[in-house]
Amino acid sequence: MSDQHESTFWRERAEQLQTALDTRVVIEQAKGILGERFGLGIEGAFGLLRHAARRRRMKLHTLAQEVVDRRDTPEPIVESLALHVETFVAVPRDERVERTKVLYAQLNRKIAALLDDGSRVFLCECGNPLCNEPIELDGDELQVLHSKDGFFAIMPGHQIPDLETVIRETPRYALVRHGVSSAA
Ligand SMILES: [Zn+2]
Repeated sequence: MSDQHESTFWRERAEQLQTALDTRVVIEQAKGILGERFGLGIEGAFGLLRHAARRRRMKLHTLAQEVVDRRDTPEPIVESLALHVETFVAVPRDERVERTKVLYAQLNRKIAALLDDGSRVFLCECGNPLCNEPIELDGDELQVLHSKDGFFAIMPGHQIPDLETVIRETPRYALVRHGVSSAA
């Protein structure tokens, strides 16, 4: 090998190693993000990532990159979660922010779209970090409830009085709006 070739060889080799390392880092980051967001633990997060990637025939790395780059949860992940909602268990978090409630709402819409089989069980969209309760709604009701941004469907009584306003309450669900204003 000439010096020229040798240096090219080593440079390419270094680039390959760097790429492999970057890929690994992105996947680790995505696992961390998903694990935290869904309370899945690292193994569970990896399972979710892999399931979603296979289902959509995406490269694991490509999907992981999306998870890392975006604030919201990529569609393939939401879909896989919705298909396995029985294994979806939330764990305590210091604060369950608006983003989390938006995620639950997104998840419920996905459940409605995927399970068009008379299934009427959705997840409570309340802000309680420990809540994993089902609520009974039909798809049409859910659509109405979600027709305005910042509206969430929760179990009656799950509202947080100093953060939310109850718009409507029925025996099966309550509709809440984020924020408390005197001018309602
Ligand atoms: Zn709840």
